[in-house]
Amino acid sequence: MISVNNRDFLQVPIADYLIPAEKVACVQVGNNAEHALLVLTKTGYSAIPVIDVKNHLRGLLGIGMITDSILGLERIEYEKLADLKVDHIMQTDIPAIKTTDRFQKGLDLLINHTFLCVTEEDGTFAGILTRRVILKEFKKYLYMK
Ligand code: AMP
Repeated sequence: MISVNNRDFLQVPIADYLIPAEKVACVQVGNNAEHALLVLTKTGYSAIPVIDVKNHLRGLLGIGMITDSILGLERIEYEKLADLKVDHIMQTDIPAIKTTDRFQKGLDLLINHTFLCVTEEDGTFAGILTRRVILKEFKKYLYMK
């Protein structure tokens, strides 16, 4: 069991560890699945946030959700991609976390997610918190002792 005596770092606001929205690859609710697949393939990310025209976070979209939505009985129906809208296939039940929440909440949630979408109090998309960033921070802290 790792013993950590000073737990102050758990209280640091998540805002300090964000990848800011302007550096995050996103799709918009009105985009079609073909565009989303292109963004996901080009960036190499398995999932990306979905935002609306007001920059509010609306959900999360992964490659698996897209392929699942065009899965026919005997074949993948690629021709459907252009007509399918992102908001019809995205995942909407995603963990809620805000810029003012603490490192500890991020740590708890990142056990089950590779990254978290973070919002301002009004729902505006602020950026993402990744497991990689939190692990790096944790490592820094442990090696400092
Ligand atoms: P990483 O910690 O870099 O391995 O990223 C884990 C996951 O977070 C990726 O597979 C993406 O789903 C998401 N992610 C990381 N960085 C970005 C970014 N700049 N834009 C969009 N999604 C990202």
